[in-house]
Amino acid sequence: MNNRILYKATGASGCDFSIETAIGCKFNCTYCSSKLIAKRNGWINNWRKPIYKDISELEKKLSELSKHKNCLVFVSPTTDPFMDKITSDKSIKIIKEINNLGHRCRILTKGILPLELVNLSNKNEVGATVTKLKNSKKLEPFSPSSEKRLLQLEKIANKGIYTFISMQPVLDNNFDEVLQIAKRAVFVSEIFFGGLGYFGIPQKDKIKKRLEVSDFLFEFCGNNDIVLFNDIYVRKEINLRDENWIIPIKKLKVKKT
Ligand code: SF4
Repeated sequence: MNNRILYKATGASGCDFSIETAIGCKFNCTYCSSKLIAKRNGWINNWRKPIYKDISELEKKLSELSKHKNCLVFVSPTTDPFMDKITSDKSIKIIKEINNLGHRCRILTKGILPLELVNLSNKNEVGATVTKLKNSKKLEPFSPSSEKRLLQLEKIANKGIYTFISMQPVLDNNFDEVLQIAKRAVFVSEIFFGGLGYFGIPQKDKIKKRLEVSDFLFEFCGNNDIVLFNDIYVRKEINLRDENWIIPIKKLKVKKT
């Protein structure tokens, strides 16, 4: 299980490594895939009672990072780095150490971001997941409301830190809601749009829906100088548009460095 603590990351996070301070998460979101994987593999019995990693264990793993230069480390893919005080303290300590090794962190939470983050490396990327603006309790019963997350993220953005919102893995089957989230989060540097799990509509319509949302987000982000990450791809045979293979590629913006 130790090799889960620091591992080479792949996929949409765009990071080189990931680190997690616990197995399990008190937020217990209804859509959590990490919970399913951990339970299936017998790593934990009760997802809401996390097994915390020792700092010494984490630091030992961090020594692997000293072999690399200028990496981006994702904190944390399969638990929330700020779900409670224990993880929060550990996360801040680990982020500091990663920064001291010359690496940057990409930090994502459904909790309340500690303002202490503004005193760490200004090269870190600080984000909050937002799947709904109101009534987020249905999907995320034990995490702070989206508005509380956004208020804290805004304070951090106002200090000149690179901030982002992550709209995934599940978004409501409500186009207006996505637009409202983007407008509320207009202060961020980046919108990561990955939500595929719209409720209650067939797969083909989900993709269509996502393309509509992508159109809006592309224009919105362009007008507001926000970087848009949109990992949508549509298979050729679906043929919703004329272009082949990756339909929205013209909509991807290069991330600012
Ligand atoms: S915050 Fe993330 S890790 Fe925690 S329960 Fe929700 S989806 Fe899972």
